[in-house]
Amino acid sequence: SFSAEVVPQAPEDPMFGLSRAFKADEHPSKVDVSIGAYRDNNAKPWVLPVVKKADEILRNDPNLDHEYAPIAGIASFTSKAAELILGADSPALKEKRVTSVQTISGTGAVHLGALFLARFFPGTKKVYVSNPTWANHNQIFSNVGIPVAQYPYFSKQTKGLDFDGMKAALSEAPERSIILLHACAHNPTGIDPTLDQWKEIAVIIKEKNHFPFFDSAYQGFASGDLLKDNAAVRYFVEQGLELVAAQSFAKNFGLYGERAGAFHFVTSPAPDAPETTTRVASQLAILQRSEISNPPLYGARIVSTVLNDAQLFAEWEENLRTMSSRIIEMRKLLRAKLEELGTPGTWNHITNQIGMFSFTGLNEPQALKIREEAHVYMTKNGRISMAGLNTNNIDYFAKAVDKVVR
Ligand code: PLP
Repeated sequence: SFSAEVVPQAPEDPMFGLSRAFKADEHPSKVDVSIGAYRDNNAKPWVLPVVKKADEILRNDPNLDHEYAPIAGIASFTSKAAELILGADSPALKEKRVTSVQTISGTGAVHLGALFLARFFPGTKKVYVSNPTWANHNQIFSNVGIPVAQYPYFSKQTKGLDFDGMKAALSEAPERSIILLHACAHNPTGIDPTLDQWKEIAVIIKEKNHFPFFDSAYQGFASGDLLKDNAAVRYFVEQGLELVAAQSFAKNFGLYGERAGAFHFVTSPAPDAPETTTRVASQLAILQRSEISNPPLYGARIVSTVLNDAQLFAEWEENLRTMSSRIIEMRKLLRAKLEELGTPGTWNHITNQIGMFSFTGLNEPQALKIREEAHVYMTKNGRISMAGLNTNNIDYFAKAVDKVVR
């Protein structure tokens, strides 16, 4: 039978375990900086005003039904999603060498890409991920039988990018390996390469014939500017690289539970690129059919409503700026408070890092101690979600950090 030898007990997902522990904690000053979900200044989830509007439009549409979406998803959604990540003027779109599939948010997009590559990738079936990376990357690729290796990314000394280490590892990886890259707002470190560094990375990837796999979960959330946040992907496409991209609308639309996302395959420029793209699309459709048949409607309908309307799009950009600027404000405030307290160490990395997360530099014993003593919930690698901080709890938080660091 299914004994413990056959089905061993698996550990609880650390992130969702932390959330559960936070909910059960009754301390009045508890602070949740664990999960990567936006919170407003009152530590409450924020339904984007533009999402409320789109929701209203959809609910009043007498023509909407609940039929199956096509296997590849809602076309008005995937086409605009592709424009968003690649740029509306992308040569790849003009040359019809992009195929897009609607997925179960970003996770589903990474999975579909991994599954496709497990089946069809003609190079070295090994994926290189940053050290550290979003923990789920390891599981998703291992689960489809693609071994995972790491390239250096975070420098403990500078609390910034270990660019030399990263370049060396990409150069030493076997020819034509899969390289997973965070398009922007790297999770968990909050450290992105500069555009010049991206250019150097692209050179190595091209030289080694590697295959870039972009994971884009935070477009518009890092800088507040959608075009700045997809600069790396656009640059790689401009260089004629063949690549894939997983795209999530969980964070930038605040549609965490609706599971709206897309997977994009960009074929390299060649006379037969459109045919190659069509073949890829046909296989993606078979993989999608065997896993979920048809993607869910509602989240994609909301995103599509916004992306296809110039006025709503502008409102969305405004909503994105509201979220990203509050986070940037919290970074400034936290750094200022720690410096004011004279907390040992340097804290400039808090404002240098971008996006939802900050890698504080707190080590595992400190992360556990701050949870026990101050009821502050961060992951044990010292990552905090900046969105969990607000003007009401930042003093308390800074003092708690100060105490465990001393
Ligand atoms: N990729 C990265 C790097 C992430 O941080 C996340 C979410 O935390 C995702 C993908 C996927 O998120 P979702 O499946 O909710 O879109």
